Amino acid sequence: MSPAFVPVKPDYAYSEKKALLETLYRFVEEEARAFSFVCEKGCHRCCTTHLWTTSLEARYLREDLSPELEARMLGLRAYPRPGSTPNTMALLLMQGQPPPEDQMSEIGPCPLLTPEGLCAVYARRPLTCRLMFSQTKCDLSGEAQMPPEFLGLSSLLFQIIEELDVGGVYGHLVDQVRFWRDLEAGVEEVPEWLLGNREAPDLAYLPEEDALRQRLARLYRLKLPSGKTFKETLDEIKEGFGQREALSFLNEIL
Ligand code: SF4
Repeated sequence: MSPAFVPVKPDYAYSEKKALLETLYRFVEEEARAFSFVCEKGCHRCCTTHLWTTSLEARYLREDLSPELEARMLGLRAYPRPGSTPNTMALLLMQGQPPPEDQMSEIGPCPLLTPEGLCAVYARRPLTCRLMFSQTKCDLSGEAQMPPEFLGLSSLLFQIIEELDVGGVYGHLVDQVRFWRDLEAGVEEVPEWLLGNREAPDLAYLPEEDALRQRLARLYRLKLPSGKTFKETLDEIKEGFGQREALSFLNEIL
């Protein structure tokens, strides 16, 4: 089994990881332009409490979160929690093992929605929101309609964003915001519902999905403000991380 990025060190290489994150977000915007999605300002049917993110995305979002919005988020009582990270799930499925069950809960509207149905943190919204698109109006069709090619790309990007958050954790956005707040206050404990990120064991595309490989190759070649490519930067931070051994709370599910 490939190693998890543990012990958890969510602060590790934050400025490099932030540059990778912003580049990945830019890549998603560019890729989405190739599809005829009908989503527009004010659509918010997909804005729910199903908000699973990396700790990197949560920290990035929290940099722009007002104290009022943070309090509103932390007041949320019921929300679903993932049973595994995307890369852990991919690994277990490759090994023919069932992934741990998610902790499901009633799904409600996202606490970051404004009364006008807009996102209060639009520029900093996480990847899961940036990948929600539809080719038909959800209010008419009942759910988002996404082309298989975009769905395939989305699955890969969830694996890559976990991989680039070296030393971080995966879980619900509310738990992640609480985690960062507590870290700031000196509490270093990782709650059991935040799961250690790990490298992508393999990217879940089929050999015939060559178009996806081409898309990923473009992402890996994108230049960051440092002048290095996405791939060079990712390789450097992974190499610099060092120690990799499983935390006890991970042993149960790996
Ligand atoms: S963070 Fe913003 S885009 Fe994402 S679900 Fe909440 S309101 Fe919608």
